[in-house]
Amino acid sequence: MPIARFGPAGKPIGFNGDIDEIPRYLYGEGLDAFEYQAVRWGSRPQIAMSKAKSLKEESEKYNTKLSMHASYFINLSGREDVVKDSIERLKAALTAASWMGAYIVVFHPGYYGGRSHRDALDLCRQALKIIADWMEMENLSGIYLGLETTGKRSQLGSIDEVLELSISVPYARPVVDWAHLYARELGSIKDKDDIIAVLGKLEKVLGSDYVKKEMHCHYSRIEYGKSGEREHHNLDEKSYGPDFDTIAEALLEIGVNPTIICETPLLDIDAVKMKSIWRNLGGETLV
Ligand SMILES: [Zn+2]
Repeated sequence: MPIARFGPAGKPIGFNGDIDEIPRYLYGEGLDAFEYQAVRWGSRPQIAMSKAKSLKEESEKYNTKLSMHASYFINLSGREDVVKDSIERLKAALTAASWMGAYIVVFHPGYYGGRSHRDALDLCRQALKIIADWMEMENLSGIYLGLETTGKRSQLGSIDEVLELSISVPYARPVVDWAHLYARELGSIKDKDDIIAVLGKLEKVLGSDYVKKEMHCHYSRIEYGKSGEREHHNLDEKSYGPDFDTIAEALLEIGVNPTIICETPLLDIDAVKMKSIWRNLGGETLV
């Protein structure tokens, strides 16, 4: 039976302690993943190395798989100075990720900004290669560059684009944000077959190990307009898609063992519900 890890994007709702106490808190809720939010960081880590190391120890103790979301202000396909600044932001995230043992640093790759999609992709690839070279130099090659599928149609980050970048840049791999895919494609991902088609695409290019053992996902219900993403919604707000049950059914059918980060406004509270849905659909034989 496929096993999924679940956890929140950021501090759990109702949690007021120090960041390194989060793994124990999540463990108490039955969760086993946590995405640290470095989303407003500039070019320096905004966590002390000692605190990050303590977070790492606690994550290991409480079996929490740690990931990091890097700055929202990254744009690797923008103006030269913007790309330079974005590279520095990513370096800061990667450095702190290595301190805390985060296995992947997730980010939105860029914006088209009036360029053709092809030109934006090429610019982004060049910048990613600079980062990958730097990672090699700094011995950070154990961390993945997580290219997230993005929710706005003005953003670089369709499933095909993140796949193309993933095969041409070392350490890069897709992060499938199901809500973003749904929003940027204006309501795709309705049926199980739509999800299985995405998984098939990933498997064809990256192989079965990536899909079955190493997939990192984001989930939320989402509201969209004609330019894509508008607002995230909770699991119970069923008038907004995509439907988690359908996604879980598809992942279970294909045998995916994913890490699923909950990005609804209710974070860990919805992550607990998602875990329970997964277990019910999977036949309750999970530990
Ligand atoms: Zn994101």
